[in-house]
Amino acid sequence: MHRNTMQYKKIFDSMSPEHIEEMNQRQEEEHIKQAYAFKVGYEQDICYLCGKSFKTISKNEPCLHWLLRQCKFKKKDFPEY
Ligand SMILES: [Zn+2]
Repeated sequence: MHRNTMQYKKIFDSMSPEHIEEMNQRQEEEHIKQAYAFKVGYEQDICYLCGKSFKTISKNEPCLHWLLRQCKFKKKDFPEY
Protein backbone atom coordinates (compact mmCIF):
# COMPACT_ATOMS: atom_id res chain seq x y z
CA MET A 1 0.00 0.00 0.00
CA HIS A 2 2.69 2.43 1.07
CA ARG A 3 4.94 1.44 -1.83
CA ASN A 4 2.07 2.09 -4.23
CA THR A 5 1.64 5.56 -2.80
CA MET A 6 5.31 6.25 -3.39
CA GLN A 7 5.03 5.01 -6.96
CA TYR A 8 2.07 7.26 -7.60
CA LYS A 9 3.97 10.17 -6.14
CA LYS A 10 6.86 9.50 -8.50
CA ILE A 11 4.49 9.40 -11.46
CA PHE A 12 2.82 12.61 -10.36
CA ASP A 13 6.16 14.31 -9.86
CA SER A 14 7.18 13.48 -13.42
CA MET A 15 3.98 14.92 -14.85
CA SER A 16 3.46 18.50 -15.86
CA PRO A 17 0.93 20.47 -13.80
CA GLU A 18 -1.20 20.78 -16.92
CA HIS A 19 -1.32 17.02 -17.30
CA ILE A 20 -2.32 16.53 -13.69
CA GLU A 21 -4.99 19.19 -14.05
CA GLU A 22 -6.32 17.45 -17.15
CA MET A 23 -6.44 14.11 -15.36
CA ASN A 24 -8.27 15.61 -12.42
CA GLN A 25 -10.78 17.14 -14.76
CA ARG A 26 -11.35 13.87 -16.56
CA GLN A 27 -11.88 12.10 -13.26
CA GLU A 28 -14.37 14.76 -12.27
CA GLU A 29 -16.27 14.30 -15.54
CA GLU A 30 -16.33 10.55 -15.04
CA HIS A 31 -17.63 11.06 -11.51
CA ILE A 32 -20.43 13.35 -12.69
CA LYS A 33 -21.33 10.93 -15.49
CA GLN A 34 -21.58 8.05 -13.04
CA ALA A 35 -23.62 10.06 -10.56
CA TYR A 36 -25.97 11.10 -13.35
CA ALA A 37 -26.31 7.53 -14.65
CA PHE A 38 -27.11 6.39 -11.15
CA LYS A 39 -29.71 9.12 -10.61
CA VAL A 40 -31.46 8.39 -13.90
CA GLY A 41 -31.48 4.68 -13.16
CA TYR A 42 -32.68 5.26 -9.63
CA GLU A 43 -35.63 7.32 -10.79
CA GLN A 44 -36.62 4.52 -13.16
CA ASP A 45 -36.02 1.94 -10.48
CA ILE A 46 -33.23 0.44 -12.54
CA CYS A 47 -29.73 -0.21 -11.29
CA TYR A 48 -27.15 1.36 -13.58
CA LEU A 49 -24.54 -1.15 -12.46
CA CYS A 50 -26.30 -4.26 -13.71
CA GLY A 51 -29.17 -2.76 -15.73
CA LYS A 52 -31.79 -4.64 -13.73
CA SER A 53 -34.62 -3.40 -11.56
CA PHE A 54 -33.73 -2.54 -7.99
CA LYS A 55 -36.28 -5.14 -6.98
CA THR A 56 -34.33 -7.84 -8.79
CA ILE A 57 -32.19 -9.84 -6.46
CA SER A 58 -30.57 -12.68 -8.31
CA LYS A 59 -28.39 -14.98 -6.29
CA ASN A 60 -26.42 -15.78 -9.44
CA GLU A 61 -25.58 -12.15 -10.06
CA PRO A 62 -24.73 -10.32 -6.85
CA CYS A 63 -24.85 -6.57 -7.26
CA LEU A 64 -24.20 -3.47 -5.19
CA HIS A 65 -27.81 -2.38 -5.58
CA TRP A 66 -28.77 -4.98 -2.98
CA LEU A 67 -26.87 -2.94 -0.42
CA LEU A 68 -28.71 0.19 -1.50
CA ARG A 69 -31.98 -1.60 -0.94
CA GLN A 70 -30.81 -2.63 2.49
CA CYS A 71 -29.94 0.98 3.28
CA LYS A 72 -33.47 1.96 2.34
CA PHE A 73 -34.94 -0.62 4.65
CA LYS A 74 -32.71 0.44 7.49
CA LYS A 75 -33.93 4.01 7.16
CA LYS A 76 -37.51 2.80 7.53
CA ASP A 77 -36.52 0.85 10.61
CA PHE A 78 -35.29 4.02 12.27
CA PRO A 79 -37.99 6.62 11.70
CA GLU A 80 -36.30 9.16 13.97
CA TYR A 81 -33.82 9.89 11.20
ZN1 LIG B 1 -27.53 -3.80 -9.76
